[in-house]
Amino acid sequence: MIVMKFGGTSVQNADAMQQVIAIVAERKGRTPLVVASACAGVTNQLVELEELALTQRRKDIASSIAALRVRHHDICKDLISQQEQQTSVHSNIDELCDELERLCEGITLLKECTPRSRAILLSFGERLSNEILSAGFISAGHNAVLVDARSVLRTDSIFEQATAQMRDVTSLAEQYFLPHLRVGNIVCTQGFIGSNSKGQTTVLGRGGSDLSAAIFGAALHAEEIQIWTDVSGVFTADPRVAPDARTVPEMSFEEAGELAYFGAKVLHPDTVRPAVEKCIPVRVLNTFKPENIGTLLTPNVDQTSLGIRSVTMKKGCVLLRFRFKPMVEKMAALERIYVTLFKYAIQVFSSEGAERHYSIVVAQSSVLSAVIADIQSVAECSHTQVSIVCAAGANLVVHAYTPDKTLLPQIAAAIQPFGAYSVQQSANSMALLIVLPETASNEAVRAIHSLIV
Ligand code: ASP
Ligand code: MG
Repeated sequence: MIVMKFGGTSVQNADAMQQVIAIVAERKGRTPLVVASACAGVTNQLVELEELALTQRRKDIASSIAALRVRHHDICKDLISQQEQQTSVHSNIDELCDELERLCEGITLLKECTPRSRAILLSFGERLSNEILSAGFISAGHNAVLVDARSVLRTDSIFEQATAQMRDVTSLAEQYFLPHLRVGNIVCTQGFIGSNSKGQTTVLGRGGSDLSAAIFGAALHAEEIQIWTDVSGVFTADPRVAPDARTVPEMSFEEAGELAYFGAKVLHPDTVRPAVEKCIPVRVLNTFKPENIGTLLTPNVDQTSLGIRSVTMKKGCVLLRFRFKPMVEKMAALERIYVTLFKYAIQVFSSEGAERHYSIVVAQSSVLSAVIADIQSVAECSHTQVSIVCAAGANLVVHAYTPDKTLLPQIAAAIQPFGAYSVQQSANSMALLIVLPETASNEAVRAIHSLIV
């Protein structure tokens, strides 16, 4: 079986849902479990509702919920042709919206929203969208059922950041999903939401639907988890910077993690951790271009595929260059530097050392001058705005240093015009990190991108 997760834009309106239904129908033979997010923007709207309720803005609450009602009614009307079915989905939407109204009134009266109430509030987006999508499958002539994710995704009681209890989820998935999947029904369920052992609603944290898909996939030993979104997988570079960027067909989870860390908008392996742990491949696909093969993320990638496979950049960094004061012991200076960075919660991306010098690339922060002031007694410090351009690929570093290869000279030639401050390798040997002036970063990305074969 496979898990097919559809994000908010994939279910944002009737056309998108229609597309989802066609995509799933084509893969019916692979026994799909469909996990869908809330319609795009709805979860944010629910977050705003809390604020409106806490500030007693009843009128705004009423108009916001009215808009939600209309939006979902309209999708239902456009998607579902049979009158009787349409009426029944309409009334389910109404019931959910009425419940949402009562919840908001409760928050308004109490002037407080507990984590438990907030989890219920946030659950409405997925409950509404899945009500319609599951009916859409039936309307299109498929055998489909909606199974409430809360009966399967058992979690702890950290209501807004719940953690799945995999042992329970596994047996509940067998109990609630498997019988339907076995007889060939398309099973729809909500992403993001779950419940604790008391049956109280919990949510996994924002963006949690990918995690739901991975949890269900791990519980059911899925052969593949597909994350359907609005981009065609992982690109060789940001297409807005390098217009000839293309999809990378396959990459390891670790490589994807490295890219995400250095600024790429790719699926971070942590968001699908249960799949990574069970070595279940995750494929990122585009709902609006389903013919594109997307990117397959796997535990290991073919070792022969060497070289640069993608390039990304992290803008808004600062290069801090320290020169230790005379008579200050080196380790004492380093200790002061790192303790101070930790104290101000500054994110460090890379570092380099010499006998009396040390340099670090950190994220830009409004408290950097305070950091520098705190370190002044042990080291002089200068700071420069920089970007980190990250050239990544499995085994990249090994490849770059092999004597018969020409990668390092090629990179050196490509970045030569940009006045790079340093070239380093990432500690997992998956990337070369080039620190250069921020103004040169787009051009540097294009130059390195042109080295990708
Ligand atoms: N709807 C939830 C959110 O926007 C979960 C998700 O879409 O992944 O955070
Ligand atoms: Mg998402």
